[in-house]
Amino acid sequence: MPRLPRLPSPCLLCQRWQHQPLCDTCLRRWRPEVHRCGRCASPWRPALPHLACPHCEDPCPEFDRAIAALDYVPPWRHLITRFKFGQWPALGPVLAGLLGEAVQARQAAAATQPMNAGMAVDLVLPVPVSAERLRERGYNQAGVLARHTARALHLPMRDNLLVRPGQAARLATLDATERRLAIRGSFALTAEGTQAVRGRHIALVDDVLTTGATLDELSRLLRQAGARGVSAWVLARTPPPGWR
Ligand SMILES: [Zn+2]
Ligand SMILES: [Zn+2]
Repeated sequence: MPRLPRLPSPCLLCQRWQHQPLCDTCLRRWRPEVHRCGRCASPWRPALPHLACPHCEDPCPEFDRAIAALDYVPPWRHLITRFKFGQWPALGPVLAGLLGEAVQARQAAAATQPMNAGMAVDLVLPVPVSAERLRERGYNQAGVLARHTARALHLPMRDNLLVRPGQAARLATLDATERRLAIRGSFALTAEGTQAVRGRHIALVDDVLTTGATLDELSRLLRQAGARGVSAWVLARTPPPGWR
């Protein structure tokens, strides 16, 4: 069946009318090529081709590597905030498209580097939200991203294996250490999930990576259940203080 042409719509960033949700001019301007740390996805200009940057030392991430599509800075921050708080679910496929492109670019680069051998992802899992948060927002933004990204990459995705029982702590106002304490023990794997992750390399999907407390806690849980490896796929990475 021939594909119907997309109807024109305003670019999500500059509002110019065109045939894709984000125009090429905006993508070139706001998504510059950034060299990122292979471990934590912080923007980083390496003097030597080491894998991990200085931000990875304290504390060292619990996941094996992170891939980020964007920096968590304007104008993306505004779009992601609206997506996160349930006001604009239609952004999901567009933003997931950016994440899928970043993962594919990294996989293509990784294919030439022996240190990435054995890192192929078997299963995609979104960072879960509590039932209370789900009611507030109407959807789990990480789940929407995970579903569209996994579909584009032809990978299995399950959004009911990781759970977040109980009340969700409000993390926004906490510093890095407080976040780690507040989040400890917040997540669980279902019995089926425990079976499903054993011996697998898991990609955890989230919208934003800032301190890494959430992804670290989930990575620990997955490893305890016997996961072979954990990748973090995030739409946006908060750059380290003083970057640029
Ligand atoms: Zn534009
Ligand atoms: Zn790093």
